[in-house]
Amino acid sequence: MAGGEMERHVMDTNKERNALYPGSFDGLTYGHIDIIRRASLLFDRLVVGVAHNPQKKPCFSVIERMTMIEKAIGDLPNVSIRDFDGLTVNFARKIGAKFIVRGLRAISDFEFEIQLALLNRQMDRQIETVFLATSTEYIFLSSSAVKDVILHNGNASDLVPDYVEKALREKLLKKKGEMPCA
Ligand code: ADP
Repeated sequence: MAGGEMERHVMDTNKERNALYPGSFDGLTYGHIDIIRRASLLFDRLVVGVAHNPQKKPCFSVIERMTMIEKAIGDLPNVSIRDFDGLTVNFARKIGAKFIVRGLRAISDFEFEIQLALLNRQMDRQIETVFLATSTEYIFLSSSAVKDVILHNGNASDLVPDYVEKALREKLLKKKGEMPCA
């Protein structure tokens, strides 16, 4: 109908392809950084969205997580970092992002991620989820795996930037025998 066509016309005038890469980033890893760098080449603008996630027990405050990301990818001119609360699709709409970027690791990610993508599409059909396959060297890398390595005094220098490793060490080893965050 006429209304629909007009709407399409209005959308076509916005040629910028903006994407949102949402996550907890509670201990930024080289896996996250790899996805940010690769996604920044695919879109005009990329917003890394740091979720407040009050139901989780993060090691770092939102500001700490945002600062860690800024340190790693501050050189990318089309990438910005924002925090958000609530539904990812609502935040995507608010910032004018038509794409949600998610990284896919081993098979175990698939079920959770497809569910999330379908749910998000049901909530907003204009927003597409785009999956980037992990780089092979990061296939088993997650923030929680890094926390385990550090808790057991392992070396995480191939997994996270040195300042993330240092900060995690301080948080996790402060209270021995007690998990201060997950
Ligand atoms: P969330 O709490 O949303 O899972 P994470 O910070 O754990 O947030 O991850 C954010 C996104 O980054 C997710 O799409 C996740 O699949 C992706 N990701 C995390 N680690 C890697 C990795 N090693 N390789 C590729 N993608 C990854």
